[in-house]
Amino acid sequence: MSSEKKTVLIFGGGLAGLTAAKRLTDKGFQVKVLEKREIFGGKVSSWKDDDGDWIESGTHCFFGAYSVLYDLMKEVKTDHAVLWKDHQLTYTLAGGGHFTFNTWDLPSPLHLLPAIVKNGYFTFGEMAAFAKSLIPLALKRDNYPPTQDHLTFAEWAAEKKFGQRLMDKMFRPMSLALKFIPPEEISAKIILDVTETFYRIPDASRMGFLKGAPQEYLHQPLLDYSSSRGAEFKTKVAVDELLFDGQEIKGVQLRNGEILTADYYLCALPIHNLNKVLPDNLKQHDQFFSKLEKLEAVPVISVQIWYDKEITPADNVLFSPDGVIPVYANLARTTPDYRSLRGESFSGKTRFEFCVAPAKNLMALSKDEIIKRVDQSVRSCYPETSKGANILKSTLVKIPHSVYAPLPGMEHYRPTQKTPVRNLFLAGGFSQQLYYDSMGGAVMSANLAAEGIINQSRKN
Ligand SMILES: Cc1cc2nc3c(=O)[nH]c(=O)nc-3n(C[C@H](O)[C@H](O)[C@H](O)COP(=O)(O)OP(=O)(O)OC[C@H]3O[C@@H](n4cnc5c(N)ncnc54)[C@H](O)[C@@H]3O)c2cc1C
Repeated sequence: MSSEKKTVLIFGGGLAGLTAAKRLTDKGFQVKVLEKREIFGGKVSSWKDDDGDWIESGTHCFFGAYSVLYDLMKEVKTDHAVLWKDHQLTYTLAGGGHFTFNTWDLPSPLHLLPAIVKNGYFTFGEMAAFAKSLIPLALKRDNYPPTQDHLTFAEWAAEKKFGQRLMDKMFRPMSLALKFIPPEEISAKIILDVTETFYRIPDASRMGFLKGAPQEYLHQPLLDYSSSRGAEFKTKVAVDELLFDGQEIKGVQLRNGEILTADYYLCALPIHNLNKVLPDNLKQHDQFFSKLEKLEAVPVISVQIWYDKEITPADNVLFSPDGVIPVYANLARTTPDYRSLRGESFSGKTRFEFCVAPAKNLMALSKDEIIKRVDQSVRSCYPETSKGANILKSTLVKIPHSVYAPLPGMEHYRPTQKTPVRNLFLAGGFSQQLYYDSMGGAVMSANLAAEGIINQSRKN
């Protein structure tokens, strides 16, 4: 590394690590990113299989709220690749029914009126009971959700006495789609924060999909941008342990036996991996580090199925409270670059991508068994259009440790990006920022970590 520039080692080449690399390279730091896997992108990674089809770690929806992500994409000139869909949420039901929450182009909160008065499923009475439960949110706004972090969302809803149907049909899939855990486990703070944002900012709940693979429109452009300005990126290099001398990080022990050193160290690792690389003497040094062990990660499964006919023409995200597919999309509609199978055009057919959750009790099942359950959920939601549909191909990705689990009380354990150790910084969806563990969260955490390093370097 150059002796004139301050050096930074970034561990983890997910969205947080790649964003931080760009931010720091832009400010004149000499950056090296070390990634354990063969590919970059972490939980948003995508790769081509032996048939030449793109496989994704998971369905990724782009919420309107993630302004930091779109700023970043503008800087690498790929913001055009987010295709914004109609501003509505559709829920598909066992037996073939569905309901849709639409929005109107009106100032907040009037934009939500159609969702309340004509969603075609919940009665006005049910929606009014729900609206009443949100009075504290309307009055105290973003000050209210943090006061409810001691409750699960199910406990909060029981206190507010809004109907079970609303919980089962609307909030269960929403909770599973957001963090892959059900309302009986997720902190009330999360759902209330999201509801407050959607209520206050009309475009926050609008969803988009990338035109194609995240590798092409997110990670490679970031890699190209930073490498052309001198940053180095290494794959298949795993960090084993940070070396702490009681005051500072003195280097990093890699799994291949090498030790590397730098002026600053930035861990952009998932929480379970971060806990493994922090040495015992650092955990004993300050409870900032030991308390990270309280944070856990959630398992989730991603499934893609190609069917030989069009089961739904929906060009948007879809939710389902029934079966094992809380959130999914027909990528043959939403994602133009994915309208192919083994190199052949695939228009007019279905390429579903599903997030399968809760996955805790499914992780041990075989691929065939999981695909069977997903296919059953599809056929139950689309009894007519799925008649005679055959599966042409299916893929499955199991992620035992995905996003951190936002259980009640966990907010307290989320770390800031700046640590008590002068030359060590953290980034990642689990760290403290507005958007929880999401693409927006990864980018915001990286912005904050990079800012911390820049400020620290001015002091030295
Ligand atoms: C199935 C699924 C669906 C999702 N859907 C959405 C969505 O619709 N919208 C949304 O905004 N977010 C979604 N998310 C969440 C989003 O993907 C994450 O919040 C975000 O990608 C986190 O980025 P990160 O950089 O913090 O962590 P990661 O992406 O986990 O990156 C960390 C990197 O560190 C590497 N690493 C680990 N250990 C080591 C080591 N010892 N040495 C070196 N490298 C190491 C990993 O390989 C990885 O590449 C989804 C996640 C999943 C799993």
